[in-house]
Amino acid sequence: MTTDNKLPRITEGTDLTNFPPPDRWDDWEEYDAQAWPEKVINRYRLVPTTCFNCESACGLLAYVDKDSGEIQRFEGNPAHPGSRGRNCAKGPATINQVNDPERILYPMRRVGERGSGEWERVTWEEALTDIGTRMGTAIREGRNDEIMYHVGRPGEDGFMDRTLKAWGVDGHNSHTNIGSSSARVGYALWSAYDRPSADFANAKFILLLSAHLETGHYFNPHAQRIMEAKQAGAKIATVDPRLSNTASMSDYWLSCWPGTEPAMLLAIARLLLKWDTVDHDFMERWVNWEDTLTHKYPDRPLTYKSFVDALKDEYAHYTPEWAADECGVEAAQIETVARQIAEAGHAFSSHTWRSVGSGNLSGWQGARTLQFLHVLTGSVGTVGGLSPSGWVKFKPQHWNMPPPNSSWNEMLWPKEYPLAYHEMSILLPHFLKEGRGRVDVYFTRVYNPIWTNPDGFSWLEMLTDEEKIGLHVALTPTWSETAWYADYILPMGVAAERHDTHSYETHAAKWLGFRQPVLRVAAERDGETIERTYETNPGEVWEETEFWIDLSWKVDPDGSLGIRKWFESPNDPSRPVSVDEYYGWMFDNSVPGLPDKAAAEGLTPLGYMRKYGAVEVERDVYEVNETPVQEGGVEIDGTMRQGFKTPSKKLEFYSATMDDWGWHDETIPGYQKTHVYWRDMDMDGPERILLPIFRLPTLIHTRSGNAKYLYEISHGHPLWMNASDADKLGFETTDLVRIETDSGHFIMRVWATEGIRPGVVAASHHLGRWRQNEQKGNERWASGLVNVEQLGDGKWRLRQLGGIEPFTSNDPDSERIWWKDPGVNQNLAFPVHPDPISGMHAWHQRVKLVKPEPGDQYGDVVVDTNKSHEIYKEWIARTKPGPGPGNLRRPLWFDRPVKPTPEAYQA
Ligand code: SF4
Repeated sequence: MTTDNKLPRITEGTDLTNFPPPDRWDDWEEYDAQAWPEKVINRYRLVPTTCFNCESACGLLAYVDKDSGEIQRFEGNPAHPGSRGRNCAKGPATINQVNDPERILYPMRRVGERGSGEWERVTWEEALTDIGTRMGTAIREGRNDEIMYHVGRPGEDGFMDRTLKAWGVDGHNSHTNIGSSSARVGYALWSAYDRPSADFANAKFILLLSAHLETGHYFNPHAQRIMEAKQAGAKIATVDPRLSNTASMSDYWLSCWPGTEPAMLLAIARLLLKWDTVDHDFMERWVNWEDTLTHKYPDRPLTYKSFVDALKDEYAHYTPEWAADECGVEAAQIETVARQIAEAGHAFSSHTWRSVGSGNLSGWQGARTLQFLHVLTGSVGTVGGLSPSGWVKFKPQHWNMPPPNSSWNEMLWPKEYPLAYHEMSILLPHFLKEGRGRVDVYFTRVYNPIWTNPDGFSWLEMLTDEEKIGLHVALTPTWSETAWYADYILPMGVAAERHDTHSYETHAAKWLGFRQPVLRVAAERDGETIERTYETNPGEVWEETEFWIDLSWKVDPDGSLGIRKWFESPNDPSRPVSVDEYYGWMFDNSVPGLPDKAAAEGLTPLGYMRKYGAVEVERDVYEVNETPVQEGGVEIDGTMRQGFKTPSKKLEFYSATMDDWGWHDETIPGYQKTHVYWRDMDMDGPERILLPIFRLPTLIHTRSGNAKYLYEISHGHPLWMNASDADKLGFETTDLVRIETDSGHFIMRVWATEGIRPGVVAASHHLGRWRQNEQKGNERWASGLVNVEQLGDGKWRLRQLGGIEPFTSNDPDSERIWWKDPGVNQNLAFPVHPDPISGMHAWHQRVKLVKPEPGDQYGDVVVDTNKSHEIYKEWIARTKPGPGPGNLRRPLWFDRPVKPTPEAYQA
């Protein structure tokens, strides 16, 4: 089976290419490559941990030099069931992050005005006491909603949920509505699971909406399985206006107009229905067709056949010819893909993430219509098909879990967006501008909204206003544009310097990964006693688990708030719980099979996880919906079965929830016009559609700044423009172009190419890092020196003063930097476009491409935040505010992070 986790590396059967066997991880010898031709033996201790450079959480194996005690490099961990010893370029680049001469090593406190860039070094004790006391005061005064934890890359699963519950704070904020809220809604409407889990390795046909193979969700674990399927004969189709690396590796490239993808998918659905290549047995058993007929087609007979007839009529006008015209692809291509899906049947797999969902108004219909194809073909939960994420994501219990809190924070979950799948994070500056509240203690944690979010200057205005943000604490492993506006910068560990657990839906199996501080584990294996992770981390870098535990003690030093008790050691309540106690309890009590596996090796469960860094919990997980249950399921053919998590426990083609909450035209999978609809553009003039959301597979958002290997690979940042558009608009490659959005403009360089459809232009969001000081404020491997200037009320300009330059440090490579262009931050010039249903920021932009004006310079970004605010008002006016049925703020069956009590849902 493809779930085998003992795949050899590169080629089979040669000792040189196999992984070091785990029984020799404590004493591994190999020749020093740099000493060649001398045969110098290096001795290593190999310690597993988990990569922190994207959401995949691949296994890493750190090579700790036994002589120097330093980490020499990172390779893949063969014992990790998700990544099976393989990594993308970003995994091994963890070594750069550990050794970066620019990294922040000590806690710092602002001394000048916020944003002036003046800092003083403080002790952790001072920082913890100041922050904790302030939080304690807010909680004592009932201002719990003024504490907010805003996370970018979580990299952990459940610890912060627990912490926020212990505090009684509904303050979890995320980056999800700039990333995936939209696709989540599309999937959740079907099954209540908000992500898919593709069994790529066993698929016969794979349909990817976006550059998923190279840069998608769960990059490397998915990519390696997609390639396995391809090697076994599977065909791949990629839908993307841009000829991505993924598209170039595919058998079919469908370069459709942005936002028209649901039309194409519905045309495929129509063909499957027309050809009768539908799994009727599955549909009749598992789709809510009775509800659909009753509510959507009440005049039709209540029979399954009548439901199928209704589907055929509903989608009759989605002919391949109509879709070809609407989407800008050939009808024959649509038919070919439909035929491949039909032939693959249960072994049809797919994925969409970002792409249509993240780019477009109503983009969530992309995931919903894609899932429709799986429902029609019965490829739900099958070998080679698509399962709901929750079936394979393993969530262990956390120790001593506090109860849910009963408050509801309207700054995060406002009444205007009752169906938003995540917090309305991008609207925080606008809500504060409108006076909806204030934030007294604001944590940004591995999060860089000024650079990452749309409308960054509105974030800058918010963060520099101490009336709106009382105290800004940046927890970060690296410098960032946002940390520049913090009151405290607290250095947090990278992948090799912290504890976290995680599990993701990488394939048809469940696993749990354990990130651990490599030098701490190595020291303990060597017989040393280490109390806290910072003892072995560089400088005074802490791990967050210990930080939150200690901070919670400072919030409630005498226990009178009832908070401290959740963080006291179970063995000695007079001291904080230790990470060994915390994770030891989890591994002892809530990971099925782990205690037995550990005992078989004479280890404790914690010892087993420290040895291997991961454990497989269950393999070959398929068709979980069919599992017989005693209660809480749905009766199918006389047997109670688990089903799905929707109110009906079935796959909901018709969503009563959408109807109940006022979205009567969106009750079934459909196609609505995007805000960048191609027919609305003045394509004879300078208007084009800008796609700003594609990733470069070798960069990591903010955290690539301290990864020199990665910046050496990726530092180009042009605007992709079809050669015919370049001719029409009078541009050539390397020409400057002024890109005008609804709230400002920015200046980039053109790259004329055939690799993008005419009418569409694109630039990766990964570059454009800046710093406001020659020496500090961002890593010099990646950032350009800029001047941020206020030109008038709400008018801002960021101007580059210099590119990336060599610099002197304790790493000789810093003097060898040969790349110069820091790129341009586009996101600053994008106003917020919150989709009225999912809440997702619709990233695509309607832009004008014009020649630069006198005085314009490469890298200029000019924005009017007053205009951004007006556009925010236009978009928020499209919503249908709650409360909904039962006076609810939000449907109770919709998931949400840190879910409060049902009473809190009452408006
Ligand atoms: S895909 Fe790459 S960046 Fe992501 S976790 Fe795996 S090795 Fe790290």
